[in-house]
Amino acid sequence: MNVRSNEPFWLVQNGLLHNYPSLHQDLHCDVLIIGSGITGSLMAHACMKEGFQTVLIDKREIANGSTSATTSMLQYELDIPLHKLIEQIGEEAAVASYKGCRDAIPQLQQVVDEVKSCCGFEWKKSLYFCAQSKDLTDLRKEYETRKHYGFEVEWLEEDQLKSDYNIVSLGAILSADGASIDAFKLAHDILYYNAQRGLQIFDKTESIKITYQKDKIFLKTQTGHAITTGKIIYCTGYETQHFLPEKIVKLKSTYACVSEVQHTLSEALKGTLFWNTSKPYLYLRATDEGRILIGGEDEDFKNASKRDLLLDRKESKIKKKFHEIMPHTFYHADFMWAGTFGETKDSLPYIGEHIKFPNSYFVLGFGGNGIAFSVIGMKLIIDLIKKEPNPLSHYFRFGR
Ligand SMILES: Cc1cc2nc3c(=O)[nH]c(=O)nc-3n(C[C@H](O)[C@H](O)[C@H](O)COP(=O)(O)OP(=O)(O)OC[C@H]3O[C@@H](n4cnc5c(N)ncnc54)[C@H](O)[C@@H]3O)c2cc1C
Repeated sequence: MNVRSNEPFWLVQNGLLHNYPSLHQDLHCDVLIIGSGITGSLMAHACMKEGFQTVLIDKREIANGSTSATTSMLQYELDIPLHKLIEQIGEEAAVASYKGCRDAIPQLQQVVDEVKSCCGFEWKKSLYFCAQSKDLTDLRKEYETRKHYGFEVEWLEEDQLKSDYNIVSLGAILSADGASIDAFKLAHDILYYNAQRGLQIFDKTESIKITYQKDKIFLKTQTGHAITTGKIIYCTGYETQHFLPEKIVKLKSTYACVSEVQHTLSEALKGTLFWNTSKPYLYLRATDEGRILIGGEDEDFKNASKRDLLLDRKESKIKKKFHEIMPHTFYHADFMWAGTFGETKDSLPYIGEHIKFPNSYFVLGFGGNGIAFSVIGMKLIIDLIKKEPNPLSHYFRFGR
């Protein structure tokens, strides 16, 4: 499955950052990580910190899966609003999940600092604004709920949205605690940092057969070699659905475009992540060099060619919607791409062990908070390996 179309902006912007070999020998290790996206790289960082002898493989070039296509908005706000998630999974689980994502953002900043990454990590506010008058009551309820549970939020009325943000909307929740990065660059920086410290990385190395024994796992690669490992951590993104026995995620196609560089973007636009109450929602932010990055227009995923054929039509729609929201802001698209992402029934990730895969762990952060979930996965999986309690493991488990 091709998880993205050609030319995601980050690949063009960064080029080939670091090169790694494919596997040409048999290997032994404590922990094998499959997948080199933002999830696999963060997991590798956590394993190296624990002193595990760690190997990471990927069937593609490094971070060339969804991580090269992501728009990298870091928000604690999940795809299901808090007040609705409370109705769906209960107060404790919903609030803990929201707080887990909020805490993940400074934890990611700590990793950025540790590996001295120039991935443009920047703290931003997040503006969740009303798309249609019928959404206003629910949006206000969401504001009250978040305030009640201690999130730092402010309600903005129509006139303030016009004067401060130059956007047309009836009301919005302004939240603290958002951020943005270049996830492709960060994944590379994390891996490069750890490669200098003994992490073994092999790209273009696909896992084709895995045999589980009591204390050991044997993995065969398409390069004809074997890796014997004590544990596997699957960071295989949306393609994981192909080898799991149960359906846990509904795949969607999503579209993103980035404008030409503009030197006149307002400070409000540069410092804020925007998303609205439409279904599917439209979202946008500025990149650190002054481009406007917009995404949305999601639809059910059929196949990669159908997804990519719609690129031009989706670009026109995204542009039209942008001009309805920000009629006074110039926008001319420079790059446009499509990607695949997934929705779970409760917008939460699947992080943990699976009964059918002994000595194995999964970090599957689907949806609009995929990156925050990957950060949560770092500690959660290490806690599971070390048999230490982690409150989120119950909410993110398989079979919930
Ligand atoms: C357009 C778009 C916008 C998005 N916007 C946001 C956003 O604003 N904020 C946010 O938090 N999230 C966002 N997401 C989601 C986010 O991008 C993902 O959650 C994240 O990139 C997933 O990273 P990953 O490392 O788990 O998966 P991937 O980056 O897909 O990495 C999985 C890797 O596993 C490898 N692999 C799979 N099978 C095998 C095998 N058998 N052998 C070897 N290797 C294998 C693949 O080659 C791949 O490189 C967006 C996604 C898209 C597509």
